[in-house]
Amino acid sequence: MELACLDLEGVLIPEIWIEFANKTGIEELKATTRDIPDYDVLMKQRLRILEENDLKIGDIQEVIATLSPLDGAKEFIDWLRERFQVVILSDTFYEFAAPLMKQLGYPTLMCHKLEVDDKGYITDYKLRQKDPKRECIKAFHGLNFRCIAAGDSYNDTTMLGEADAGILFKSPTNVIEEFPQFPAVHEYEELKQEFIKASNRSLSL
Ligand SMILES: [Mg+2]
Repeated sequence: MELACLDLEGVLIPEIWIEFANKTGIEELKATTRDIPDYDVLMKQRLRILEENDLKIGDIQEVIATLSPLDGAKEFIDWLRERFQVVILSDTFYEFAAPLMKQLGYPTLMCHKLEVDDKGYITDYKLRQKDPKRECIKAFHGLNFRCIAAGDSYNDTTMLGEADAGILFKSPTNVIEEFPQFPAVHEYEELKQEFIKASNRSLSL
């Protein structure tokens, strides 16, 4: 039994915070896990900036509603789901992901939750657990699933390491250079080939 575990932002959809930064013109919001590997530090910075700029959850959701999956993402995930059970392991929040998951056909998503007050201000966030992507792979192994994982960034690398096979997809050069043990590809067609290679079944395109 094989599971395909995919990161979400940067792999299937654009980086939500970068799109939001472009829309608001707040440069500081462009930092992602590619720049700040410690997710807690990154999220605290984001919440501080939102507060300083008097921005509410509705302002972010308005931007998300205008986004689409990356070109080819829907076709890729449909292809993958015909060959694997697919689970999305993400460090985003359910409150952000919903409209985009609809466009991807609602694959299973494991991520985090925001705390929002009655006025719509994000007051805090609840990470489901520490190192959640890796913990998911460990749990799936405990259920006797073989796992092939793909992600683009620092917050994916423990997941890729824990998985039976890990693949870097659309990663920036610094991540590719720091983690040469993982194959790195940039197009969905190449990613399909990597999944086929990593599978212990004889799959075809
Ligand atoms: Mg990502």
